[in-house]
Amino acid sequence: MARTGNNLERIKYQNKESIKEIIYKQGPISRAEIAEMLQLTPPTITTNVADLIQQGMVYECENTPAQEGRHTLGRRRVLIDFIPDAKYAIGIECGYHGMLICLVDIRCNVVIERKYEDRIEYYEETMDAVARHVKELLEEEGIPREKIAGMGIAFPGFVDQDGGILRYGAINKWKDKPVAQDLKSRTGFVCVTENNVRCCAIGEEMRADRLRPETFAYFLVSRGLGCPMVIRNRLHVGEMTGAGEVGHMVVVPKGPVCPTCGNRGCLEGISSEQAIRERCRQVVREKVPTLLNAVCADPSDPQIDEILQAQNSRDHVVCTIMEDAITYLGIGLANIINFISPPLVIMDGRILQNAQNQKLLIDVTRKNLFSKNVEEVNIEFVPFNKFRAARGAAALVIKKFVLEERRQA
Ligand SMILES: [Zn+2]
Repeated sequence: MARTGNNLERIKYQNKESIKEIIYKQGPISRAEIAEMLQLTPPTITTNVADLIQQGMVYECENTPAQEGRHTLGRRRVLIDFIPDAKYAIGIECGYHGMLICLVDIRCNVVIERKYEDRIEYYEETMDAVARHVKELLEEEGIPREKIAGMGIAFPGFVDQDGGILRYGAINKWKDKPVAQDLKSRTGFVCVTENNVRCCAIGEEMRADRLRPETFAYFLVSRGLGCPMVIRNRLHVGEMTGAGEVGHMVVVPKGPVCPTCGNRGCLEGISSEQAIRERCRQVVREKVPTLLNAVCADPSDPQIDEILQAQNSRDHVVCTIMEDAITYLGIGLANIINFISPPLVIMDGRILQNAQNQKLLIDVTRKNLFSKNVEEVNIEFVPFNKFRAARGAAALVIKKFVLEERRQA
């Protein structure tokens, strides 16, 4: 008997979670449509929606003229949607762009985002600074604590989301830090932590203005490379939290030494910002004639924006370096697409903002794709935004603490 009870409880939780997810992703939506999509009975929908209304999470709205099709003419449909300011979430990234904090509403609309000048050097001090800034931010915005669904914090490196642990921080080599617990004890808010690129992927999954497919890959070309995957609305984390570390697939046997792992010929050693900058430093050192000497504030250490500027001015040396980087990136991307066959790959990164790099990447990728993958995959470029991971960490809070139901053990 006990087992039957547990199963019923579990089904109730699952139904509630599915209903919330449909309203979040498809709302405003009618009760009848939810019932049809989930194959649940109308009374189940009615009861759950009533609960959500009572909790102040969703509200009833009437369809606007734009939503009225021919079939509904003359009938008023009552639609259900989330109340944007029912809850808020805090997202943080401690990464290569510094300490970035944002506050979003339940629909992941940004209320405020800010960059802080604190140095991310010592763990305890960094946690103290995050807690202090969050407290100040909430006071400034006048948002009551009970409206905060939680905090999410993103780091480059290996993160165990379930355990709330930063297993290995790529910036300061922090090891096994119980981040979620440490931030909770400082702020009182429930906290979740995840890898920065995975947060970007979750941010896209939760976008209110654009419904993403259930399965997609998110490829970030930054200092390093990362390609997390969302598979059937679940972030694929792998058994050892290291899934999506595509930067270390070997694409050139005996190729350049990878700046991150030390192996030879990793994709990251050729196509990452670090690798491109290293090759540019090398040509400057070797006194190869290049515009880098003119455009860089410090030609011995070219920055990625300066390198892109030299490419834009058609500097032959820089164009060749960039073409190499993008060509191998395209080969790596084709391998990934052939392997998992996602309907969509979202490409992010500063080197992928210009049209010529985008075109070369698409051309090389398509050339290396197998069979139907060529026409069936959609490759989309998103504008560079340094707050993407912080926003994604906040989106993870909404997903984990608002949409998902706490399952009973
Ligand atoms: Zn490597």
